[in-house]
Amino acid sequence: MNSRVIAIANQKGGVGKTTTAVNLASAVALLGKKVLLVDCDPQGNATSGVGLSPNGTHPQLYHVMIGQSRASEAIFDTGIDGLSILPSGMDLAGVEAEISMEGEKRYFYLKRALKGVQGEFDYVFLDCPPSLGMLTINALSVARSVVIPLQCEYYALEGLSLLVQSIRKVKQTLNPLLYIGGLILTMFDQRTRLTYQVAKEVKVHFRDLVFRTTIPRNVRLSEAPSHGKPIFLYDPDSRGAEAYMILAREFLKREGGKS
Ligand code: ATP
Ligand code: MG
Repeated sequence: MNSRVIAIANQKGGVGKTTTAVNLASAVALLGKKVLLVDCDPQGNATSGVGLSPNGTHPQLYHVMIGQSRASEAIFDTGIDGLSILPSGMDLAGVEAEISMEGEKRYFYLKRALKGVQGEFDYVFLDCPPSLGMLTINALSVARSVVIPLQCEYYALEGLSLLVQSIRKVKQTLNPLLYIGGLILTMFDQRTRLTYQVAKEVKVHFRDLVFRTTIPRNVRLSEAPSHGKPIFLYDPDSRGAEAYMILAREFLKREGGKS
């Protein structure tokens, strides 16, 4: 299978990376694609977000990256048909200390980890941690595209140029095919002028790269993770579920136009 790997990244914390990774991956699976969600964050929020324990004894990304487990042993089904998860947990925080730090090899551990299984999926989504450290660079080194969630608040654009520079640098040195797949405006609050100002400014800078679909601030989206469920299992009729489904259609349409 010709699979596509998409990193969901922004070094800013709490902007909606994990919410987007879990629910966009779920929606794409519900639209009939085979999808793997890889939790690249030691916080393990994507893992618990689909109902697995980040403290469980099952093999995790950490074990695959250090060569202790095969990826196929660390991939689990979720409650969504067609969506699998490669979980993480706190152990992953120590991975930098345990793998070789020599040369460029250190940036390709995730790529190596996914090699044997990637082909079984149409789409592989990587939920990145809130930093530009080793794990995020590993994700950018294996991804074909990066999707950047932005929270519609005053400092949304802060740090974005650093992220864009980092993506450019990875493209120049480690992964020539990498491109920015799009920016997603999350926690969009239609009642505030600030939201519209931020959206306008982002569009001035990034134009067509900004997804037309915006994700509204929706309390059901913030409740779903504590039940270990993607929004489509927790409240399929919510505005959040509707928005992520529309986003998934827009995403697939854009992907269809790329080779
Ligand atoms: P981190 O940088 O820590 O990994 P993140 O970028 O992955 O954070 P999330 O965990 O997805 O961000 O979201 C941060 C918080 O905001 C969470 O409590 C989440 O439930 C909530 N949240 C995300 N998106 C929405 C939304 N559209 N409406 C309401 N709450 C949201
Ligand atoms: Mg997260």
